[in-house]
Parts: sequence; C-alpha cells; structure tokens
Amino acid sequence: MRFLQLLVLLFTFICSAQAQQPPGTPTPTPIPLPSPTVKIDPYRAAAARIIGAALTSDRAYSRLAHLTDHIGHRLSGSQNLERAIEWAITEMKRDGLDNVRTEKVMVPHWVRGEESLEMLTPVARKLQMMGLGNSVGTPAEGITAEVIAVRSFAELDRLGEQVRGKIVVYNVPFSSYGATVAYRLQGASRAARYGAVAALVRSITPVSLQTPHTGAMNYDQNQPKIPVAAVTIEVAEFLQRMSDRGDRPRLRLRMDAKFLPDAESANVIAEIKGSERPDEVVVISGHYDSWDVGQGAHDDGGGCIVAWETVRLLKELGLRPRRTIRAVLYTNEENGLRGGNAYRDAHRAELAKHILAIESDSGVYRPEGFGLAATAPLQARANMQEIAKLLSGIGADGIAATGGGADIGPIMREGVVGASLDVDGTHYFDIHHTPADTLDKVNPRELALCVATMAVMAYVVADLPESFR
Ligand SMILES: [Zn+2]
Repeated sequence: MRFLQLLVLLFTFICSAQAQQPPGTPTPTPIPLPSPTVKIDPYRAAAARIIGAALTSDRAYSRLAHLTDHIGHRLSGSQNLERAIEWAITEMKRDGLDNVRTEKVMVPHWVRGEESLEMLTPVARKLQMMGLGNSVGTPAEGITAEVIAVRSFAELDRLGEQVRGKIVVYNVPFSSYGATVAYRLQGASRAARYGAVAALVRSITPVSLQTPHTGAMNYDQNQPKIPVAAVTIEVAEFLQRMSDRGDRPRLRLRMDAKFLPDAESANVIAEIKGSERPDEVVVISGHYDSWDVGQGAHDDGGGCIVAWETVRLLKELGLRPRRTIRAVLYTNEENGLRGGNAYRDAHRAELAKHILAIESDSGVYRPEGFGLAATAPLQARANMQEIAKLLSGIGADGIAATGGGADIGPIMREGVVGASLDVDGTHYFDIHHTPADTLDKVNPRELALCVATMAVMAYVVADLPESFR
C-alpha cells in the first residue's frame, strides 16, 4: 500500500512537472479548419430520438440474423446472393421505403470446388488451407512439389531461380491489412515470374486458431497463372521450420477452383426521398456479397443492415430530411467491385449532386465515429466534426483524417466526398474472410450503436438548410 502511494505521488509529481515545462519540441500543427457553418442545436432533439429508437429496437439484429442464418454466405454468382437480394427488395417495400429497386450488374462467377493440401514427406499430414478467390485450379491429380518458405518479396527476389518448380510459401507476419495484403494480391504472379508452380500465403491476420482466411488475388497478365491458397499461421510457421531445417518438405495441393460465365446480379437501392431537394443525395452503403465461407456477418452483412436500418428507422420516426438519403447494398465488392463501378456508370449524371457517400465495411463493432476522405473540402470536415458532437453521448464523435470504402471508391474518384463508418477494429481481422465470420460474433448493442451513429450523421447532413461542403 505504502509503495503504491509512493508511486502515485511520484506519478503526480512527474505529471505536474511536465505541465509546468515551457513548450519544448514543436508538435505538428493541425491544418486549421474553417468555422463550421452547421448549427447543431436545432438537431439535438432529433438526434436523441434517433439514438433512443436505434438502441431500443431489435430490428437490425433480427434482420442480420435472417440474412446470416437463413440465407448464409453470399459469393457473387451464387444462388444465396440472389435470394438475399430478393428478400431485401420484398422487405424494403414492406418497410414503406421510397424508390426500392435493383440495378442490374453482371458479376464474375468464381467457384471454389473441392480443395486440399497435404504434406507427403518428411511426414504425412493434412494441412489447413483455403483457396484464394480468383485463383485457377490445379490439374485433377494436384500439384506435387517441394516447398520453399520466404518471409518477404525481397527474400523471394534474392532466391530468384531457386524457386523454379517449387511451391513458394509466403510466411509474412501481419503488420497492417493494407501492407500485408500485398502478398495475397500479388504473391502468385511474383512467384510465377521465377518459375514457381504454386503459391501459399500465410493468412492476412494477426491471430489464428488454425483458421485460414480467403480473399481476392489478382494475376499479372504477363506471368503464368499458378494456383494460390491461404494457409493458417500455424501451417505457415510449420512449413517455415521444416524449410529452415533443410527437411525439404513435399506437398500436394489440389484445387478445383474455376470461373464460370459471368452471372446476373444487382445493386439494391432504397431511399427516403428528400422533402425539398430530392435530387441532392446522401449515399449510405455496404456490400451485400461475401466470401463463400462463414456467414458474411461482419463483412459485410452488418454494414448493409446498418444502411438499410438507417432509412427504415428515419421513416418510422417520421424524419424526412430535405435531401434524399439513399441506402445502397452493392454487389460483388469482394472479387470484382463490379457493383461500385456499375453504380458510378448508372448515376454519372447526378454525381455532382451527391453531397456525401458513407460506407460501412469495417465490421459492426462499437462505433467510434467516421473517417472522412483526406481529400474532402475543409468546410465539410469542419461541419462533420460539428455534427459528430451529437454523437458524443455514445462515444461515436471522432472524425478521422482519412476514410472512404472500396465500393464508393469509383464515385469518390469522380469527386464525391467519401467517408467510412469507423468502429473499434480490434478483432475484425481475427475473423475477416473466414468460416468464423458468423452472427455470434456480432454484439446486438454494438450493431444498434452503429445504426444510431449512421442515422444521426446521414439525417443531419441530408437535412441541413445550408450547404454541407
Ligand atoms: Zn467487406
């Protein structure tokens, strides 16, 4: 106890000493923002009503439960995705939303088929794996070859021709999703350049309980197309140890993966039509497709339900804003981005009147606020920060320096101001693109908080008497 008191005293002294210090090394100066033009006082009552209604409704969770438990995962080209679209359209009409419709999109139709990985020597063992989306398959008898493990592209380049005829394993620890995902996207073609016959990529995740993570890969059209699969962290480390000891492990990889002809799918749209300026639009969105494993609960069934429930809730509360709020459930984000591109093409003429586009695609964990694109006008940033004060009671008032989303990327490149719903991402990449992305990982209260956060921001931006930007 006495020791603790001493520690507290010491800590207090250090803190006060620091506080009394004259300013030392300069801290980076934030870009000065203009004063907000938005007045939030008139919106306090509406914001309180929205938050209260979102937190006392189980509609978002029960709809996500139907989507995940009764329909399931939803890869582009699958019957599940089209069933999910039909269900959403029926329910959105029942909700009484405006302009409920689909917009046709042709999507790639990749199928996984049967797949397996086994070690033949020095020990016989089955290994956990999952083919990467868009990969070619192997011949029916599989590909049998020696393994060579590398920890980086630089190491691959040093080995060069030594990987010819071998299976390259990229055993790269997770640093950030953006950095590590390069191995999933480019690993196959970079190895094929030196004559590798297949590639395995350590799953893009910081933690693993023998859970492989799939995800899209891309081929460099100038290199031979070799099959590529994700392995778990455990398998990658096992192969690394074998490789380092000179055990020369031999593996057999079998994958039936292939592309079928493009399939018909659609973006799903539902709106609350604006009362004064219906041609001005605030887009809120997620992507409705998922990988073909798990339930696509956090990625991104939850994000879609947040967008949908936002317009349903505002409608139920009788809160019709001056501008239109448009919920968009994009198809084919995961392995093609055809939905986002199709939206841009279909709505090109009205993009100048898109006030803001917000995407929710980081999981539906406890919301922290929004990420606003770094390129957004400073006035929009100042106004968004001001509006977010209405969310301080639920801790969702942060506005991060960057933001956006894959699906809204195409319209952001045409000048639309983009933002993301930002959440506590601590555990997102534990389950991202795995069989473990299931409803039990979604906390109903956190989902409801996401709805509240999205609904307050979308409503106020859409209703402002003055300009948001
Ligand atoms: Zn996603």
